[in-house]
Amino acid sequence: GTAQIGVTGLAVMGRNLARNFARNGYTVAIHNRSYAKTESLVADHGDEGTFVASESVEDFVASLARPRKIVVMVKAGGPTDAVIDELVPFLEEGDIVVDAGNAHFPDTIRREGALREKGLHFVGSGVSGGEEGALLGPSIMPGGTKESYESLGPILEKISAKVDGVPCCTYVGPDGAGHFVKMVHNGIEYADMQLIAEAYDLLRQGLGASAAEIGQIFAEWNTGDLESFLIEITADVLQHVDAETGSAFVDIVLDQAEQKGTGRWTVQNGLDLGVPITGIAEATFARALSGSVPQRSAAVGVLQAHTSEWDVTDRDAFIEDVRLALYASKVVAYSQGFDQIAAASAEFGWDIDRGAMARIWRGGCIIRARFLNRITEAYERDANLPLLLADEYFTGAVGNGVAAWRRIVAGAALHGVPTPAFASSLSYYDGVRAERLPAALIQAQRDFFGAHTYRRTDRDGTFHTEWSGDRTEQTA
Ligand code: NDP
Repeated sequence: GTAQIGVTGLAVMGRNLARNFARNGYTVAIHNRSYAKTESLVADHGDEGTFVASESVEDFVASLARPRKIVVMVKAGGPTDAVIDELVPFLEEGDIVVDAGNAHFPDTIRREGALREKGLHFVGSGVSGGEEGALLGPSIMPGGTKESYESLGPILEKISAKVDGVPCCTYVGPDGAGHFVKMVHNGIEYADMQLIAEAYDLLRQGLGASAAEIGQIFAEWNTGDLESFLIEITADVLQHVDAETGSAFVDIVLDQAEQKGTGRWTVQNGLDLGVPITGIAEATFARALSGSVPQRSAAVGVLQAHTSEWDVTDRDAFIEDVRLALYASKVVAYSQGFDQIAAASAEFGWDIDRGAMARIWRGGCIIRARFLNRITEAYERDANLPLLLADEYFTGAVGNGVAAWRRIVAGAALHGVPTPAFASSLSYYDGVRAERLPAALIQAQRDFFGAHTYRRTDRDGTFHTEWSGDRTEQTA
């Protein structure tokens, strides 16, 4: 075979990835379970480059130059296993299978192990940027062996997004590392979206501003530190008018947020690793609350509020407070997400370079943002930074906004505006910087009812107090 790269699974994502490879000059072998999608790709876009279409898996594999590089872009879960099982009998030692779908990282660890035993490379790769990213340049997060990256990496880097000429693709780490980082990316995306939604709600309720006016505020914010894809599209969405009713589009959309599950995976993993990713968790639960229809129906007009009108006197100062609170909360969410990556990296032996992850998220993906440069710089200053928030740049940038952040969270509480992500991020900030936490009391309680023991501040050792007896302390 002569094709340099193959793509199987030609729905929206696979089709656009295949076109992206072809547009970049690669000869692309294409295949799909049902041949119609393969034919339509050739018919609609065959002139964009060189495609080699195959109807059978056997012909598809045979059309590729060795070592073969095959990108699988099918529905995550069972379908991915089914496609791998069909491919494997035709593959030879050294061939590379790339799963570019949204796999859950434990599945990727399992698949990598199984293919490694057969002498094959399995690359679990996160791909972010949706349909448009796949076509014009996504952010790509490939895991697997370093050896596989030597031949595959340059091709993926070529089709990835570029920022300042630097590709938004780099080797992430062994087996499940790529899909893990993509999962955390999606979790951070949840947090970012929730924080933006809270900022919108605060501006709406605090200022009584219209959606379009708030859209203009977001457009203004997009020229500063908050510049990002999500802020940009928020400005656009808020200024969009529903053609049918003439109302602001956001006002005719049902307020029940859905999810495909990557946020849930991120939160579940945060619990497994014991990493407080409160921003991502609150964002995921806020979606769940919005969809809790019976509970919301039972509560509306029934639960007492005891709030007063939010009488904002200085409009510009209020807008600036919300902006600063949004920025600070956003830094917390990222700081927590990067802690989660560090914890998983240690747990699974992945050796992930966090600064490099921030770098490949600068373009192509949904959370692309100017401020990611600052994160890369922070990890360049100290690759083992224990807390992103405590980096010298972020202590200053967040410190500038702390007073505003407190005003906003306190005001939201007084006036009954739900701000789970803003408020929990501020609590995290105060918790992590506290010299002493009431966790001491929790340890005492645990020792009281369960003899779970405690350590002391003044000397080493593990102790237990005889709570139900004479209350003497024993060395445990
Ligand atoms: P879908 O997730 O809708 O999957 C459809 C594709 O899977 C079709 O090619 C279909 O083949 C194939 N397929 C389904 N079941 C099987 C099976 N048992 N055997 C063989 N092929 C099967 O496609 P998308 O393009 O939306 O997404 C592809 C992957 O990319 C998913 O894992 C998704 O999570 C991920 N992703 C999607 C993004 C997006 O914005 N959509 C963004 C980032 C990642 P057929 O045509 O024959 O039915």
